[in-house]
Amino acid sequence: MKKPIGSLDPALPDVHIWGAGVSGLLMAHFLRSAGWNVHLYEKTSRIGGKIRSHKIEEGVYEEGPNALYATREVEEWLKELSLEILPATTKLKRRIWRGRAQAPLTPGEVLALVPRLFKRSPSLETDKSLADFFRPLLQEKIETLLTPALQGIYGVSADQLSVKSIWPQLKAGSYLSVIRQLKGPKARSVSFKLGMQEFIDRLAQDFKDQIQLNCSEFVLRPNTILCTNAHEASEVLRPTHPRLAQLLHGIHYQKLSSVMSLTPPVPEMQQTFGFLFPRTQGIQSLGVLFNREIFPGRCGVTFIVGENQGADSIVHDDLNKLRWSTSDLRVHSWEKALPIYNSSRAQAIEQLHAEKISGLTLFGNYVAGISLRDMITAARNFSQNHKRSP
Ligand SMILES: Cc1cc2nc3c(=O)[nH]c(=O)nc-3n(C[C@H](O)[C@H](O)[C@H](O)COP(=O)(O)OP(=O)(O)OC[C@H]3O[C@@H](n4cnc5c(N)ncnc54)[C@H](O)[C@@H]3O)c2cc1C
Repeated sequence: MKKPIGSLDPALPDVHIWGAGVSGLLMAHFLRSAGWNVHLYEKTSRIGGKIRSHKIEEGVYEEGPNALYATREVEEWLKELSLEILPATTKLKRRIWRGRAQAPLTPGEVLALVPRLFKRSPSLETDKSLADFFRPLLQEKIETLLTPALQGIYGVSADQLSVKSIWPQLKAGSYLSVIRQLKGPKARSVSFKLGMQEFIDRLAQDFKDQIQLNCSEFVLRPNTILCTNAHEASEVLRPTHPRLAQLLHGIHYQKLSSVMSLTPPVPEMQQTFGFLFPRTQGIQSLGVLFNREIFPGRCGVTFIVGENQGADSIVHDDLNKLRWSTSDLRVHSWEKALPIYNSSRAQAIEQLHAEKISGLTLFGNYVAGISLRDMITAARNFSQNHKRSP
């Protein structure tokens, strides 16, 4: 059920969207195109939520998301918005740190995997963690390959994530059939010259007079759409919708920091996207992105750390272990950085859908996918199902 929770009352022309992160802005953008009068309310003094780009002398860097994984269809839409797409450099190597930078799998390891592709995956009747589901295929590579890769996206390890929560439609079968099901349409990573902030500013451009910043008093009106994180939504709904508030509160979050360092380039960064760090390698960060290699005009390297405090000293230590020079660090931390796609999230989302709420909608990265691409698809489909006649 990869869609926003709830629905709108078509008899009323206005929608009231709370939260001007990318999810709220996407909702406002698509619903405005579908004929609604949109009103957007943001608690802080700026729009964009976790998306924020900085331009410094050395180049552009991002606090949070650094790219949008865009299909051809999404790229067409970005062009319609007159956004100039900045594609990521192609054919960059992705490396796993095992004392030194290594390819994720050696040719021998790939060969060893081939016969296991025909094994049947465990059943999905009872919820399975990603680690348990993929163990017959990947065996000891769960710790050194799957977990580092997942930490780079979800911020948590393979045993903390649930198959049903991430891929509700996935059917058990041979691993080959599983991989085929997971293969999405062709897509590539893109950003914009001034960073992801350009995307945010463009979305807001058409309804900027309808955005109210510094809104601390929540008001529940007919056709309210909550585009905050699940705990903020729980807080504001507690007085009027205690059952929804309780379910929303059951969604867990991972804390994270992104730490940008103006470390000068070293040869191992060349033509490389970044490194992932398995937990067994003595490096505390989850991964590092080589911003300059990925997009022209970017600066530094960005470490992702699974803590929201002390991230600067963690990165200083890691830079020493990697024998890279340290520089001033720019640290951005979130206590609730990413929702954890575990089985309690899957159950909470299922139960929230079953409540069949109307005139109130819940949306954000905990609802229908964590990535910007998932959020674009979900917001667009929702607006197509809620078109108003002119
Ligand atoms: C470090 C990091 C890197 C990431 N990188 C990528 C990436 O490269 N590509 C990708 O696709 N995804 C990435 N993601 C995931 C994705 O980008 C985020 O999930 C997304 O930006 C979240 O958007 P959101 O609108 O759901 O939430 P947020 O960005 O958190 O926005 C919520 C907004 O609601 C406001 N708000 C909260 N409470 C209230 C209230 N009571 N009233 C009014 N407003 C309120 C907040 O102030 C905020 O502006 C990344 C996430 C993180 C943390």
